[in-house]
Parts: sequence; structure tokens; C-alpha cells
Amino acid sequence: MKHNFGAGPCILPKEVFQEASQAVIDFNNTGLSILEISHRSKEFEAVLDEATKLVRELLNVPQGYSILFLQGGASLQFAMVALNLLPENGKAAYLDTGVWASKAIKEAKKIGNVEVVASSSDKNYTYIPKQYTVPADAAYFHYTSNNTIYGTEVFDVPASSAPIVVDMSSDILSREINVSDFDLIYAGAQKNMGPAGATLVIVKDEILGKTGRVIPSILDYTAHISADSMYNTPPVFSIFVSLLNLRWLKAKGGVAVIEQENIIKARTLYDEIDRNPFFKGTAAVEDRSRMNVTFVMDSAELEAEFLALAKERELIGIKGHRSVGGFRASIYNALSITSINAMVDAMKEFEELKK
Ligand code: PLP
Repeated sequence: MKHNFGAGPCILPKEVFQEASQAVIDFNNTGLSILEISHRSKEFEAVLDEATKLVRELLNVPQGYSILFLQGGASLQFAMVALNLLPENGKAAYLDTGVWASKAIKEAKKIGNVEVVASSSDKNYTYIPKQYTVPADAAYFHYTSNNTIYGTEVFDVPASSAPIVVDMSSDILSREINVSDFDLIYAGAQKNMGPAGATLVIVKDEILGKTGRVIPSILDYTAHISADSMYNTPPVFSIFVSLLNLRWLKAKGGVAVIEQENIIKARTLYDEIDRNPFFKGTAAVEDRSRMNVTFVMDSAELEAEFLALAKERELIGIKGHRSVGGFRASIYNALSITSINAMVDAMKEFEELKK
């Protein structure tokens, strides 16, 4: 059995892939592929409608928030957020916790004034800064809830008198959140929701339309809301597979249930990292991510040896991101505790071999 610890794109349960592949041939006994039916057909409208309802149900999204499935990935949101929420003469506050946060900052700076309230770049983003104040006159405050590359996660919503915008690309649907703590949530689908190609946006309607900017329609949230995510051809397959995965999550008992599993999975792996003298976690203990577990060994030689053993044990995708090195085990919703145990066994085996 292969254990996929890769960071994506798109780690989903096998049964979801199976159902998706069947629909590529014959969708719901229509005799047509999900890829070829019209996105304006009743059949596809039902897909989009159910996916939207399941997001609302699973995340308990209150009234007054719109749910969108857009294209362009989370990276397009870096620009869309600023275009839609940052007035010409206003300023936005950002927390810099890694590569993705920095990219969001870079894009927002092209659009308006940005104040970076704190950064953990001094320690290669291995922790989440906590001592900072969001200026009261900021149009919004942006942070990244899970730093996919560095393995840090923000569990408590930071204090902010400004509206909060969060990039939840790599931890959405992995734990319970209170949507009303946020004004805008965005997430590329491709970690816990579905294949790359769709981006989930949950936005509080009342914050839109206030910047006085002229926004090209394709970049304007209000255009997408008025068109029910059909302003242009939606990413039909990605939305469809997301729907299958949302159904899987609901059948499992929902976000509260998966959160408990994710807590156990992460604890099991971190416990072994802390116990085993050959491995060392890289993220500050209190900020350790439940989705991406980063660790190193004492030398490049040891890392190469462990990587070879991991390959033999079919532990896939554990090499760290090219910008940090070491190892990264991504343990998204679809990865079972069996895979975590296989990783822990390999770590123990390595220790024994080296004794
Ligand atoms: N934000 C986070 C936290 C990510 O992990 C990623 C990609 O891994 C992105 C943004 C960029 O997403 P995309 O490739 O969908 O633009």
C-alpha cells in the first residue's frame, strides 16, 4: 500500500477518485461524461448547488455570507482580495508567516498601501508571531492560517478590530472554525477539498462594494455572487470531485469528527519525532501544524538514508519543500492513521538499524 504524504495537489480518499473516474465515462446514467455535459444543464446546476450547500452545512456558514467556487487558485485571491477590499487611499495589514503570506503581501502592494504588522522571517518562518497590533484604520487584516511549507498553523483567530481575511488553503475543512470570526475566507481546493482548479471563497456580503474602485468583472466578487459562481464557465470537474469529497466528509461525521482524527494523527507523528533521537521537529512546538509536519535529521547523509528506507516502505512525498529542505509529511484529511503508523514504524526501524 502506498502512503501519500505529498503536499498535493489533491490528496483525496480512493473511493472519491473511483466515483469521479466513473463519472468521467457516464455521469449519473446520462450516458454523458461529467466533462461534456453543459455547465448550464440542470444536472450540473444540481452539482454546484449541492456543493455550495455542503460547504455551508459542514462549515456552518451563517446567512449574510456568499460561497463561491472560482478559478485562478489561491494566488488569484492574493490580488482579488486587495482589489475588492482595499480603497485607493486606505491601507491593509498583513501578517508575514511564510512564502504564501509574502506572495499575498507582494500582490497587495501592487494595488495599495500595505503594513506588515509582524514577520517570522527572522527564524525562517518556524513560528507564528504573536506580539503585534493591527492598526484600527486598516481596511482589513490578512493572515495565512496554515503555512504549508514551514509546518506552522494559527489556531486562535488573531485579535483585530479590522475585518479579517484568511488564506485557509491548506487547513480548510480540517478543523472546526467559526466563520463569523472572518470577513473573507479563501482556499485553493487542492488540499482537503478537491482537485486543483477550483478556489473556495466565503465572503461576508456587507464588506463588498466599498472601495470606490473600478474592478474588472472577472475579478469582482459581486459579479461572481450575482451569477451564482457562473459568471464564466466554472471548473466543472474540480467542483464535481469536491462535491464527492464533501459528501465523503459529511458521511464520516463532518468537520468535528475529522478534526479529532487529525489531532490524533498529528500527535502520533509529533510524539515519535520528539521521542526518536534521529529526528527533530522544525516548527515551534506551540505552532505545530496538524496538516504539514516538518522535521530534519542531523546530517544530509542520515536524511538520504532515511529517505531510502521510506521509499522501501512506500512512504511517498516526504521530502521537504525545496526552500527549507529536510522532511515534510503532509497529513491531510484523506491520509489515514494507518499511513501515520507506517511512518512511525519506519522511524522506529531506522533507530533500531542505527543502534
Ligand atoms: N496559500 C497557501 C497556504 C498554499 O499552500 C498555496 C499552495 O500550496 C497557495 C496559497 C497557492 O495556491 P494556488 O497554487 O492555488 O494559487
